[in-house]
Amino acid sequence: HRAALREAIAIETDVEVETPETAERATLVCANGKRLGPFDLIVDASGARSKLRHCLGDAAMPRPLAYGAFWASLAWRDGFDRSALLQRYDKASIMVGVLPIGRPEPGAQDMAAFFWSLKPADAERVKAEGLEAWKARVVSVWPECEAFTSQIDSFEQLSLARYGHHTMTLPAGRRLAVIGDAAHSTSPQLGQGANMALLDAAALGHALARADSLDDALATYASARRWHVRVFQALSLSLTPFYQSDSAALPFVRDRMVAALARVPPGPQFLAAMVAGTVIDPFRRIGLAEFQWPAAG
Ligand SMILES: Cc1cc2nc3c(=O)[nH]c(=O)nc-3n(C[C@H](O)[C@H](O)[C@H](O)COP(=O)(O)OP(=O)(O)OC[C@H]3O[C@@H](n4cnc5c(N)ncnc54)[C@H](O)[C@@H]3O)c2cc1C
Repeated sequence: HRAALREAIAIETDVEVETPETAERATLVCANGKRLGPFDLIVDASGARSKLRHCLGDAAMPRPLAYGAFWASLAWRDGFDRSALLQRYDKASIMVGVLPIGRPEPGAQDMAAFFWSLKPADAERVKAEGLEAWKARVVSVWPECEAFTSQIDSFEQLSLARYGHHTMTLPAGRRLAVIGDAAHSTSPQLGQGANMALLDAAALGHALARADSLDDALATYASARRWHVRVFQALSLSLTPFYQSDSAALPFVRDRMVAALARVPPGPQFLAAMVAGTVIDPFRRIGLAEFQWPAAG
């Protein structure tokens, strides 16, 4: 935001972008009829339901995944790990999660994201059975979570998250670059969505700063991100059913395999790389290097 202010780039709020129009330069057409631009380049960061990517011939909406979740941001409570995501499972069909998410502003109270895995198709039935029945179900899986369910007075406090999976073949076209969830969305099981979006932005910036032409920069951006995005999308798609599905076999394998893998090198390193987004190096091609974390002391 500060960089945009420094460059005197106008910020338009409360506009729904509908479609780009590309001639010599690119213009954005908004739902209210307003036109923005012309611009040298449009960067589409409008998330999984992007309308702009359609003009690159990618009209597919993300393929819905069977499971989603109820989510709420609640006040943090002691007794949970302040530096780790904790999840409690029964097979892969039941899951409660507590994720420390810091403070919304300096001086404010610490918060937790609290979530309960469920199929979006079952959400209305769960609501019809009543809030107290749902809370009792959660607490039966993880009694300490009463500290969070007691903060919920209505289903209105819960957002129903639906997950979808989608990967663009080529996230760039004439005067248009597509980044983040607009280019690739998936379930949040590996927790890489924000990292991937930031890496896309860094890759695009790096390419624009170095290429001789806009077309070269867009081609460089797409190729720099191709394999990292594809590997993580494939890992996410194949691993999600181990954590959210009706299967009994997959969580059985998960509990034994991950527990064993986590003890024998290079298993721990591989698992850490998977949830850090570094199974293949995303940095070198975009002019970055992995931060060398100090050894835990
Ligand atoms: C429940 C849930 C939990 C998640 N947990 C994690 C996690 O733990 N770790 C992680 O890394 N990732 C997580 N993710 C994924 C992460 O949220 C996304 O990968 C990330 O937000 C993608 O960023 P983005 O900027 O590409 O898109 P978004 O964050 O979706 O931002 C897109 C923005 O564009 C706006 N927009 C959309 N259409 C238009 C339009 N036509 N005109 C104007 N504006 C528009 C939207 O209002 C929105 O503000 C989670 C996702 C969900 C749903």
